[in-house]
Parts: sequence; structure tokens; C-alpha cells
Amino acid sequence: MESLVGSAGFKKAQAGLTADFDRFLEDLVTLTEIEAPSFGEEKRGKKFLELLQKEGLDLVEMDDVGNVIGTRKGTASGRVVVAAHLDTVFAADTDLRVRREGMHWYAPGICDDTRGLASLLALVRAMNFAGMRTRSDVLFVANVGEEGPGNLRGMRHLFGKGKYAGQIDAFFTLDGINMDSLVTGAIGSYRYTITFKGPGGHSFLDFGVANPANALGEFVAGMATITVPDEPRTTFCVSMVGGGTSVNSVPESVWVKIDLRSASPVELTRLDKEMRDLIEAAVIAENRRSRAGTDLSVEICRIGDRPPSMVRESGPVIDEALGALRLFGFEPRIEASSTDANIPMSLGVPAVMIGSGASGGGIHTLGEWVDVDPEAGQRALAAILAAVLAVADLS
Ligand SMILES: [Zn+2]
Repeated sequence: MESLVGSAGFKKAQAGLTADFDRFLEDLVTLTEIEAPSFGEEKRGKKFLELLQKEGLDLVEMDDVGNVIGTRKGTASGRVVVAAHLDTVFAADTDLRVRREGMHWYAPGICDDTRGLASLLALVRAMNFAGMRTRSDVLFVANVGEEGPGNLRGMRHLFGKGKYAGQIDAFFTLDGINMDSLVTGAIGSYRYTITFKGPGGHSFLDFGVANPANALGEFVAGMATITVPDEPRTTFCVSMVGGGTSVNSVPESVWVKIDLRSASPVELTRLDKEMRDLIEAAVIAENRRSRAGTDLSVEICRIGDRPPSMVRESGPVIDEALGALRLFGFEPRIEASSTDANIPMSLGVPAVMIGSGASGGGIHTLGEWVDVDPEAGQRALAAILAAVLAVADLS
């Protein structure tokens, strides 16, 4: 890592990052101000494609789900992906205009993950400026579907169905801004809508028929008694409930939404089984108490599925990322999180998530802001570039 960073080529790329910083901020504003809610990323994706096309890559394409992929060919074999996500949590009609207050720039999505997108363009330009050749191909990917409802659909396509599926050797995602954290594990989650159904009826005249609300209540009370380990951190949440017709009706249906999480596949599977056992027991209990022939049914619909992966302290990509971050003065904690890296990690592809800036805050709020201090920003970009070059094998 020291020799890579000390090389004349790298120094030239770093000079490129410095000279280019205003352009990086310009891209950040341009992209931030284009709406991109999950499932509505197309407009921003097209703009990103246009910006990428200006950089003279070997191939720039948009795949079937809307991921934008720019390939910088290597001299030998191998394929390294550097990604950032196009989508934000904000609706299309949100005011996205950037408000500049000194070094703090405010706009929804400006950190998460528009700074990552602007960073991809800055990295391409720095590599071109220095005329760098890597042995592996480097694919710069602006992907769709990272935020909640997207359920990682961009990454699922890239790794599962797209033309590069099964041919990606290493993965970086630049997400958020925090350079003091390196994500090497994946918090997995299962999310459900569970609907209890019965015949319904009049609260007085039909009293005695199976009541789905009773089963739901018993199930939720059972959830509260589940025990989970602190390490690996495992959690469950009864998040939303609803249903029924009126105060004087036995409901025909009631529903509850549940979020289960763990970095451990074993714990997540165990938790999932406990939840299902509780649902079954609650339905059986209500049916037993109720008039014959009025039995409840239940529908378990999985609305979210992100595969887990245990945190690793070292390994391919992780070692390069740690080395580069430390060399540029960052002190990253190793953590698990729920990101686009969940997909490659679950497939055994070496992967990390790195931040793409110095500081900021208000992530996922209308008050989201980013610090545009050039020194810290250039240092962050240089660290990311060094990590990517170490993995892609500068030739
Ligand atoms: Zn993000």
C-alpha cells in the first residue's frame, strides 16, 4: 500500500482529485437536485449515464433494471465493482434544491448516497488523468433499489441475473459519508406482513365466531417474550398493526408488520421459526376457543429479504480498504450494516462498504447535510482510490 500511494502515478491521480474538486461538487449538486425515489431512479440514472459517457470509458450501459454501469477495461482478467446507489428515501415532489451555508451544504439525499455517485465520477477522472492501467476491469456502477422498499433489487440483478452475474471478483460500495466505519458484515433482515382472517360478523349477534384480532393479540404478546442474543446483535420489532371494519364488528381481517434482523444467518433463521411457531399457536388457540366451523386462516407475506453475513476482521478487499483508510489518517471501526454489500457478501464475493466523505448528518431527513471541506474530501477520495487500485491491481 505504501509503495502504491508513493508511486508517481498515484501522486498524479491525487493531483487530479485536487484540481477536480470543484467539478466533483458541481456533479454533487446536479445529481442531488434530480429526484430519485426507489423505483423512480430513471431520470437521475440517465443523467449519470450522460456524465459517465463524457469520461471516455470503454463501455457505458444501463441494464434491465436501471443500473448504470461504466467499464474501465483492465490489461488482464478480473472484475472489480465500485458502486453507489441512485435511489433516495425522498418522494419525487420533495424540494431538493441545495442550500449552501459555508462548508455545510443542505439537501435531502446529498449524503446518502449522492456523494457516493459524485465520487464515482471523480475516481474515473483521476484514473484517466494519471493514465492508470489496472489488471482487472473496474466497473463503476450507479445502482437502483438500495433503500427500504427497493429491497436491494439493483444488486440482486447485478449479481444474480445481469450479464456480469457470477463474474465479479470484488466489490466496494461507497455509501453514507462516515470514513470512521468500514462495513465488512451484513445485517440481514426479513420483513413480513402477516394477515389473520376469519368469517367476521356482528359483534353482538355473531359473538363466538373466531376473531382474528384475538389471534393477532396473542401472537404479538408472544413476540414480546422472545429472547435474542446481544452478540451477534439480533432484534425483532412489531412495527405496525391495522385492520377491522368498525367498533361493532368482529373483523374479517387484521394485519401486523414485523421486522426481524441479525448479522447471523443461524440466529435470523431461528428467530424466523419462532415467529412462525407463535403465529400457528395463536391461530390454533383462537380456533379452539371459538364456535366450530368459523376457523381462522393466516397469510404470511415476506415483504423484505436481505441476506445476513457475519462481520470479518480481515480478508481480501477488507485488508486493502483498512490499509488505505489508515494510511490517509482514518481510524475505521469494523461493523455490520444493511447495505448493497449484503448481496455480494451472501454470495461469498469479497465486499466492503466505505463512506465517501468527511462528515455530515441528518441522513434520511429533509435537513440532510454534507461538509464540503476540500482537504477532508480529497483525502477521503484518495483513500478510496488507493483501496480500489490495490484490489484491481495497478499494473
Ligand atoms: Zn445509502
